[in-house]
Amino acid sequence: MNDYLVKALACDGNIRAYAARTTETVGEAQRRHQTWRTASAALGRTMTAGVMMGAMLKGDEKLTIKIDGGGPLGAILVDSNAKGEVRGYVNNPQVDFESNEQGKLDVRRAVGTDGMLSVVKDIGLRDFFSGQVPLVSGELGEDFTYYFATSEQIPSSVGVGVLVNPDDTILAAGGFILQIMPGTEEEVIAKLEERLKTISPISILIGKGLTPEEILAELFGKDQVKVMETMPVQFHCTCSKQRFADAIVGLGKAEIQAMIEEDGQAEAHCHFCNEKYHYTKEELEQLLQEAK
Ligand SMILES: [Zn+2]
Repeated sequence: MNDYLVKALACDGNIRAYAARTTETVGEAQRRHQTWRTASAALGRTMTAGVMMGAMLKGDEKLTIKIDGGGPLGAILVDSNAKGEVRGYVNNPQVDFESNEQGKLDVRRAVGTDGMLSVVKDIGLRDFFSGQVPLVSGELGEDFTYYFATSEQIPSSVGVGVLVNPDDTILAAGGFILQIMPGTEEEVIAKLEERLKTISPISILIGKGLTPEEILAELFGKDQVKVMETMPVQFHCTCSKQRFADAIVGLGKAEIQAMIEEDGQAEAHCHFCNEKYHYTKEELEQLLQEAK
């Protein structure tokens, strides 16, 4: 089953809702970076929130999320866009802990709680929006909820979850973002808050294999949800051998000459997807000719 997300309206259009299944997407990140269980959960939760936030953008707009809570994981970096494409990495992928008291992966301990969640949106024409909030939980769902309330002034609820198999592969991943539109009556908000208290945790819902539509139906009741759009979701990196070659050319003749003399070759590494690109001496000599 391929990953996808849905954009929907709920409660007579008072609530904008996003829900996503990201099992394959997070699975690919896990394979590429060889993340251990707790690191997979932290990266997967951030990627899941990120791909839904990307779906709030238009056209060629894109965004970058950075979370650095001072924990053993280091920073989490996630890029996403309006096309359902997302990529991401953590500084230290081999991080895992015993489960916490609730029997869940101890994401807070891996991420840390002393730091910031920041979002930079590239909205075209060199125009950027950026927002930054202190981490309030380290579990990440609550941190995104706080980000929306504080930085974007949109009362929201964010639930993101990742379930991991004993062999480190990803069993299930997904989440939702609910946003209350201005002018929504208190009664509707109170009812939603009550529902959020009683509904099973998102990790349980995705573990049961619920689709994004079914997650929203659990939250609002089936007849209260109107799906507006469905979009495929995937891990996608923009790097290529040519892109790194362009970057090498940009270093200038002296630098490339030094690479040729010292190593006789070069290797470029993409942090986002862990791909490595190798350049032979002959290829470097070609790039030397192109450089200034
Ligand atoms: Zn890459």
